[in-house]
Amino acid sequence: MGKTTGFMEYNRALPSSEKVDKRLHHFKEFILEDSSENLHNQSARCMDCGVPFCQNSCPLGNRIPEFNDAVFKGDDKKAYEILTSTNNFPEFTGRICPAPCEGSCVLGINSDPVTIEHLEKSIIEKAFSIGWVKPKIPVKQTGKIIAIIGSGPSGLACADELIEMGHQVIIFEKSDRIGGLLRYGIPDFKLEKSILDRRLNLMKQAGVIFKTNTEIGVDLSPEKLLLEYDAVVLCIGSQVPRDLKIEGRELNGIHFAMDFLSAVNKKIAGDKTLDWDLKEKNVLVIGGGDTGSDCIDNSNRMGANSIVQLEIFSKPPMTRSEDNPWPLWPMVLRSSSSHEEGAKREWCIATKRFLSEDGINVSGVETVEVSWEKDENGKYSMQEKVGSKKIIKCDYVFLAIGFIQPMLPGTLKELSLELGRHGNIADSNYHCKIDKLFVAGDARIGQSLVVNAIAEGRKVAESINDFLEENIVGQKNYSANPFAL
Ligand SMILES: Cc1cc2nc3c(=O)[nH]c(=O)nc-3n(C[C@H](O)[C@H](O)[C@H](O)COP(=O)(O)OP(=O)(O)OC[C@H]3O[C@@H](n4cnc5c(N)ncnc54)[C@H](O)[C@@H]3O)c2cc1C
Repeated sequence: MGKTTGFMEYNRALPSSEKVDKRLHHFKEFILEDSSENLHNQSARCMDCGVPFCQNSCPLGNRIPEFNDAVFKGDDKKAYEILTSTNNFPEFTGRICPAPCEGSCVLGINSDPVTIEHLEKSIIEKAFSIGWVKPKIPVKQTGKIIAIIGSGPSGLACADELIEMGHQVIIFEKSDRIGGLLRYGIPDFKLEKSILDRRLNLMKQAGVIFKTNTEIGVDLSPEKLLLEYDAVVLCIGSQVPRDLKIEGRELNGIHFAMDFLSAVNKKIAGDKTLDWDLKEKNVLVIGGGDTGSDCIDNSNRMGANSIVQLEIFSKPPMTRSEDNPWPLWPMVLRSSSSHEEGAKREWCIATKRFLSEDGINVSGVETVEVSWEKDENGKYSMQEKVGSKKIIKCDYVFLAIGFIQPMLPGTLKELSLELGRHGNIADSNYHCKIDKLFVAGDARIGQSLVVNAIAEGRKVAESINDFLEENIVGQKNYSANPFAL
């Protein structure tokens, strides 16, 4: 523990952000640089608790009190080593993690939690600027080669671990660029793609092979991969979006959020994509989560006239309710930078039907207010409020109401995968019932978070390594081109 009285002397303070009217003119990150004095003071607030609840609530088990102590003592190299001993990509989580660690920081019981996420970003950015972050060139080669399907954070973390263990790794990605939702879901103003490319370059130098525009199940069969490789991992995410199948759904102007978000990200990357003309348009976002927020930021940057975000559930309280005590994840009202930039939020609203003035394009939605009643078993049910019907005018609707399950195209669907109740690839131990086949990330646990995906990637890599060590049945020579299937 750096300073025993730090938590009493310093208040939580994050670096400032570019003003809204300025940042709306670009798509770049807008959090300004922090001073080293503030970082020092923020790390001093950590109380080095006997039981580190922050560390326990981090899916990666990040050794938070230890790296805070190293920052406080000015030992940046040590902080970097501690941080990266559990987290392959702190430059991602340090920017976009909702930080469950901060939700269970002991200081948060009666004060503001330590700025753990921001400290994490500062440690890794310093390490990059000094040149400490190097490709993980393995000291020995095992001669085993593993195919990873999908290049989101779970696939990347799995590759990063396996390559360090001395295995060869090839990642097959159906998209034209590597990164999964880090590339095409999360907007640039939260995670600039140069940050992702910087990491991918290191992974390439370490020997990871990336093969884009290759959809497994369509361009290559999983059976072929299972024959040719020592292990195959499905890191294909949970990409089937939840739909809102109500009257008028077929009208022009109603889109899944991801169609919009990925088109914007591609345009920022310099691709010629279809122009979305949102200038002076009225935008309706259905869904109150992160994906919905990302639609708001983009719409504001594209000159929308008005943005309304609807959420079917109740407005969360400002502070923890009695049935949501510390150290549980605080179920409180969260306002993101998107909301700061401008959007009207409405809670307890159900969408009944989409309306059109010309029979072709959407011009509004009919909504109704709802209430949520808890029965004696603690189960909530929804009731519509009589006489609460309302029309909201809109030219664009973005459906941001979650994702149901992984996409299983062509021969991928023919694999006898065991699917869970929600369609995810249910496997409690990463190794599927099919020999040599593994699964991790959102494909396994359902729609989740980047930090969980990285944790999944690390665990599946460990599981594969154990499997390969148990099954050394003659080495194959893969020094030839691994694409020659
Ligand atoms: C819009 C949006 C914003 C989000 N914002 C945040 C955030 O701010 N913070 C946070 O922590 N989490 C956020 N999340 C959640 C987070 O991005 C995901 O939980 C995480 O990316 C899941 O990682 P993954 O590797 O399992 O899957 P994905 O990132 O979905 O990657 C799966 C990859 O597999 C590829 N693929 C699929 N099928 C095939 C196939 N048959 N052949 C080859 N390739 C295939 C896909 O193209 C994709 O690249 C967000 C999600 C969305 C949708």
